[in-house]
Amino acid sequence: MATPRTLTLACSTCKGEHRHRLLTGEEQEKARAQLGLKAVYDFWLCENVLDPDTGAQCRNLRRYLQLKPFTEPVKLAPLE
Ligand SMILES: [Zn+2]
Repeated sequence: MATPRTLTLACSTCKGEHRHRLLTGEEQEKARAQLGLKAVYDFWLCENVLDPDTGAQCRNLRRYLQLKPFTEPVKLAPLE
């Protein structure tokens, strides 16, 4: 596959560079509903671990070419 699934990109809430990944199909559905957008294929999710005890990740969303695609940072809600 030509497009990498993970990339090191800057995160607007963690500050600095962290590993991001593309959304899974399920997460894309979730993101469409949460954001009210149709096109979410170019969103990258921050995998930076914020809580080492639970392994909870940042989940902040950015676009590849846009560090801050929203006025306020948006984190993808976890899948149920
Ligand atoms: Zn982050």
